Amino acid sequence: MFDTLSDRLTSVLKNLRGKGRLSEADIDATCREIRIALLEADVALPVVRGFIAHVKERAKGAEVSQALNPAQQVVKIVNEELVGVLGGETRRLNLAKNPPTVIMLAGLQGAGKTTLAGKLARWLRGQGHTPLLVACDLQRPNAVTQLEVVGERAGVPVFAPERGNGVGDPVEVARRGVEQARHAQHDVVVIDTAGRLGVDQEMMRQAADIRDAVRPDETLFVVDAMIGQDAVTTAEAFRDGVGFTGVVLTKLDGDARGGAALSVRQVTGQPILFASNGEKLEDFDVFHPDRMASRILGMGDVLTLIEQAEQVFDARQAEQTAAKIGSGELTLEDFLEQMLAVRRMGPIANLLGMLPGAGQMKDALAQVDERHLDRVQAIIRGMTPAERQDPKMINASRRQRIARGSGVTVSEVNDLVNRFFDARKMMAQMAGRFGL
Ligand code: GDP
Repeated sequence: MFDTLSDRLTSVLKNLRGKGRLSEADIDATCREIRIALLEADVALPVVRGFIAHVKERAKGAEVSQALNPAQQVVKIVNEELVGVLGGETRRLNLAKNPPTVIMLAGLQGAGKTTLAGKLARWLRGQGHTPLLVACDLQRPNAVTQLEVVGERAGVPVFAPERGNGVGDPVEVARRGVEQARHAQHDVVVIDTAGRLGVDQEMMRQAADIRDAVRPDETLFVVDAMIGQDAVTTAEAFRDGVGFTGVVLTKLDGDARGGAALSVRQVTGQPILFASNGEKLEDFDVFHPDRMASRILGMGDVLTLIEQAEQVFDARQAEQTAAKIGSGELTLEDFLEQMLAVRRMGPIANLLGMLPGAGQMKDALAQVDERHLDRVQAIIRGMTPAERQDPKMINASRRQRIARGSGVTVSEVNDLVNRFFDARKMMAQMAGRFGL
């Protein structure tokens, strides 16, 4: 997602580097290039027009800055305008003062509503809520079962109509679902509704009826980012037919150009709350316009990386490790623990991809070989606790035993142990320099 746009914008802005001052002609040429890049990314025309007009006006009127050179100023302006188009501030979920908070999901069939219901429920649980899922998609065969499956995976109960009485009434199910939540003290209710393959009056009427019956605190319009310009027309139809308070973009992991993400906020006037980027329940996050903008501009997504790191690293343990690094006492046991923690954050290539400048390192990232890390892990696991604590004791015969036990060659074990000593020395020196 956004790869092409990101590449294009980065190279347009790179052309400005080294220029002492920007002429009007430079700015016009840059804006023309940005315009093409946005149109190619499938961003809706009115959004592109507004964007370019703002950038041009601000770039031409840019005050002389002490801190930034002209190229940096344009990057800053483009970044700020991107953040604006994506919605500005991060919009949090509105929770009702009197629980339960009712969240209704609406969107076309296949947009990813049912999957999203599970993701949202899992996320809400992680935030300390006690959600209930309500199955009101009685149209699509299996939708109820699918919701029950994701609910189970998310560890969240599902309220569903009794089977065997023909197709039930979704409005009634929604109403009873909310009653059940109140009764069983669930503080959030997520209602999955039926979609159709295309925008259709009957679907809109049903969604509007559910809305009137349960008066949701949030109606989230779920839209597949891969459908490009159609996302905008669909969003307009839902806005007029049902109304919604926020947008959830799904399938951001797909190979799409990203125009939907950049258009939908501006066209509908409603903010994007969440983004979904994969089929697994954890492939889901709060949508942060500023982070998305820096990702598009190839400035990386350091904030997301830091947050992910905060989730898997234990602060106290990290401090202890840092102290050991400083004094050159790091053991292979510590090393293994750190490595496992990093790997819990996801594939290494994905992590590196969030770093600034990662756009240009794509080829190198594709080379990162997780199997090599698996081997390192296997070697350390093949050592006894004493050997991990005090790698100096790993002599030739121990190396042979470790190699046999972990299915690698002796030279691989040698390599790891030697590199560990080198790294430990280097880290201790660096820590000294930074005063750790
Ligand atoms: P619904 O008809 O709106 O309830 O859509 P579903 O939840 O059944 O999703 C339709 C298909 O899209 C399923 O195969 C999901 O696994 C898939 N899907 C949902 N969200 C994502 C996502 O963020 N990324 C990818 N790659 N697939 C997704």
